[in-house]
Amino acid sequence: MAIVRLRCPRCHKGKVFRGLFAMYETCPVCGLRYQREYGYFYGAMYASYAFGLVSTAYWLPLLLLGVTPWLVIGLPTAQLILQIPISFRYSRIIWLHLDHRFDPAPLRGPGAAGQG
Ligand SMILES: [Zn+2]
Repeated sequence: MAIVRLRCPRCHKGKVFRGLFAMYETCPVCGLRYQREYGYFYGAMYASYAFGLVSTAYWLPLLLLGVTPWLVIGLPTAQLILQIPISFRYSRIIWLHLDHRFDPAPLRGPGAAGQG
């Protein structure tokens, strides 16, 4: 549920995003630093790629119906452009949760006092 609600991978309460694309640097509740290092979210591209493939694959059967290939290319492209905010946010959240699951960050930071 924390993934669906775009919440922190450690405490499942703190918000990750403060705008459509803007993220908090740390969790407002537990102090977890979301971007561990420079380029940390490159891994989110895998989730974004998979999400894009899965969410547009249902357009392919149009080819069997004899629809022009330009429409079969254009409709998924338009869909991908429209779902950029969703794809951006959920690919980062999925990446954060996967990474935290296999390599949890130690408790530290300003919000972590007294929670250990
Ligand atoms: Zn947190």
